[in-house]
Amino acid sequence: MQKFSFFISAVILTATPLTWAQDKAFPTAAELAKMTDAERHAQAARTEVWTPVPKVVSFNQNNVPSDAIPLLGNSLSAWRAVKDGGAAQWQLKDGVMTVLPGSGDIRTAENFCDIQLHLEWQSPPADPAKTGQMRNNSGIFFQDKYEVQILDSYQNPTYPNGQAGAVYKQTIPLVNATKPTGQWQVYDIIYKAPRFDGNKRLSPGYVTVLHNGVLLQNHTEIAGTTEWIGPPQQPAHGCAPLKLQDHGDKVSFRNIWVRKL
Ligand code: MG
Repeated sequence: MQKFSFFISAVILTATPLTWAQDKAFPTAAELAKMTDAERHAQAARTEVWTPVPKVVSFNQNNVPSDAIPLLGNSLSAWRAVKDGGAAQWQLKDGVMTVLPGSGDIRTAENFCDIQLHLEWQSPPADPAKTGQMRNNSGIFFQDKYEVQILDSYQNPTYPNGQAGAVYKQTIPLVNATKPTGQWQVYDIIYKAPRFDGNKRLSPGYVTVLHNGVLLQNHTEIAGTTEWIGPPQQPAHGCAPLKLQDHGDKVSFRNIWVRKL
């Protein structure tokens, strides 16, 4: 019997937050008006939740959260060449990493699933002979498969599902928030990985993208892998590296960090 009572109590406690609107046990506004301050505070305390207490996050001088994993500092040790798994060959100077065209894509040594990503990128001076997709193209791939486009989209028309902040070839960004060529651009991205049971996809991935603090993708469903030609695919996979694209342009990066979610 005691066990049963405990079970009932646990159910009531667990269910309480879900039934606030219908809970007749809470006083009406008229009843509250007649109460003393102490009685009202006692009623207010019933909906206070004191645990769990959120972990404290502090910030270093570069405003990097204390629980973040820095991916770019004074070395490229967090990165590997995709083509052979060896050391990344991109250039690094004063904490700024620049694509070495022709050396190939690079990926993180570490695998990631759900993350918050902060990444700053910069286009080199625009070559007027290069337009559209050829103007300062790169990209950040989540789990090695899903690209959020990096492109110099400042006064540079292209197909919108391929401009900066697009889920490439899938979802057009809400707006174009690209700063003038040469200025640093900031991406803050929340990525939720797709879930699989064996080869069956249980739920798609989702991505939220802020570009220079402006919302471009609002919990956008990711249809599947990024494909240049053809429809997205949905292969099962686990946690995987982040990848940066060498599209032949000297795009630069700095201050990259992730928080595992
Ligand atoms: Mg790209």
